[in-house]
Amino acid sequence: MMSWWPRACQRCSLTGVVTRRGPRCPSNGRGELQFGAAVRGCSSSSSPSLQGEVRVRFAPSPTGFLHLGGLRTALYNYIFAKKYGGAFVLRLEDTDQSRLVPGAAASIEDMLEWAGVPPDESPRRGGPVGPYLQSQRLDLYSQTAQQLVESGHAYYCFCSPQRLELLKKEALRAGQTPRYDNRCRHLRADQVQEKLAKGAPHVIRFRLEAGIEPFQDMIFGWNRHEVAQVEGDPVVIKADGFPTYHLANIVDDHYMKISHVLRGSEWLISTSKHLLMYQALGWKPPTFGHLPLLMNKDGSKLSKRQGDIFIQSFQRAGILPEALLDITTNCGSGFNTNRMGRRIDELISEFNPSKITTHSALLDLEKLPEFNRIHLEQRIGDEEQCLLLIKDLQVQIQQAYTAEIQDEEVLHEDYIRRVLHLRKGHISSLKELVSPGYSYLWVRPSFSSQQVAALTSEAPRIASLVLRLIEERGEELALDQLSKDLKTLAKQTKATKYREVMKLLRLALSGLQQGPSVAEMMVSLGPAEISHRFRKLLPLSETS
Ligand code: GLU
Repeated sequence: MMSWWPRACQRCSLTGVVTRRGPRCPSNGRGELQFGAAVRGCSSSSSPSLQGEVRVRFAPSPTGFLHLGGLRTALYNYIFAKKYGGAFVLRLEDTDQSRLVPGAAASIEDMLEWAGVPPDESPRRGGPVGPYLQSQRLDLYSQTAQQLVESGHAYYCFCSPQRLELLKKEALRAGQTPRYDNRCRHLRADQVQEKLAKGAPHVIRFRLEAGIEPFQDMIFGWNRHEVAQVEGDPVVIKADGFPTYHLANIVDDHYMKISHVLRGSEWLISTSKHLLMYQALGWKPPTFGHLPLLMNKDGSKLSKRQGDIFIQSFQRAGILPEALLDITTNCGSGFNTNRMGRRIDELISEFNPSKITTHSALLDLEKLPEFNRIHLEQRIGDEEQCLLLIKDLQVQIQQAYTAEIQDEEVLHEDYIRRVLHLRKGHISSLKELVSPGYSYLWVRPSFSSQQVAALTSEAPRIASLVLRLIEERGEELALDQLSKDLKTLAKQTKATKYREVMKLLRLALSGLQQGPSVAEMMVSLGPAEISHRFRKLLPLSETS
């Protein structure tokens, strides 16, 4: 299937097409649609200006902390920017001062960094088109609003909140959708001047014109929303002098030279309004692509009140960022194939925007541990990443078992590395390793003589066999060899069956009845610790 790519190739200016293999230029030899940095060799794009480059932005309001839906929007923007050699901008839309949540702005940026999708330009990092915080760009919005007033595309509105409330009530009583009746559109210039001179409270409204041009959305295709028929003229500058979202958003996208606006599909309906504003200002609009929403598995809305969808909660729960990125892209679209275990580089190389569908993405969080297991295994397999996991685990072990650790050896890097390599593929989170089921790795177990007696009367003999075996095998214990050795060992006991022998060994090693294989436990603990634990089963006369 081929669909039109709404952006022209910068090399030849032909409109690109989107094929199964991604955006393609119909004319150039390599078939790739040329974007931004991809055309650095091209004379037309060698200027240092941002003109022509792919520039996308994530524009959250710091009225709350970053949640999965937000991360997903940021991620698609990030992938798009990196795929086409462009820039990923973080802009914080903090114009609704009454709803700001303290700490949210800093936390959003922290979480993007943590998730591995860091912005190239942001409030913290700065950049060529800053500031990146809307509250620091107020002059730009009022200048633009003035420009709109002067060209007759916007007007001062002096309607009182009481009048607006009354209009609303009347509409509701008549079963209609409330909308402003555009009364102040018709004020004469001298009336406006008089009210302004008296300091009458006012807002600025944008004049919505009928006859909207259709636009082509990258994902939803051709679209048109006759806003003037359903809405009253929208406020662009509020009574407090702050802009509304609609104005601030287009002003910033223009001045920040945003080439593609990739945002949630809830904004699709507002785009015609935004395009009217671009037209009124004589600005070229960016290309729009509206991403389908992220929903719960059952199709219900992903509620922020669930709390557990905030990125910080996942971070605290020991979820790896790459597992979060993987699950959010896996349940959505934009890739030729869906597979688990993709890391950011693979997400970028396998991304195909023509594959983004209009269906909502259904998120099954029950699969998250499985995603985490796969990515944890990948991290353990990477020497550098593994070292970071070791450091993390050292802290967790100390926190969980401070007073009980008898042998500092368990905090040793090599010991923890061995444990991680033996457990990779089995555990979904590092936190599991400090849970009671794995306490035997860090502290010596306690069990009673009754527990031993319930299993066998041959405990001292079995213990001596284990001690002899460990001595023979030396420092290096290998899993396969040890499994065979244990089978042979069990045959040497007279009255105890293999199953009971294993239960006894497990008890002596861990104090537990379940866990990894006995051989694995022994390889993890190493010869010295195994000897220590089995000597306890010998009669007192033999332990010295
Ligand atoms: N501040 C808006 C939001 O938080 C941005 C919407 C857009 O990307 O245009 O959803």
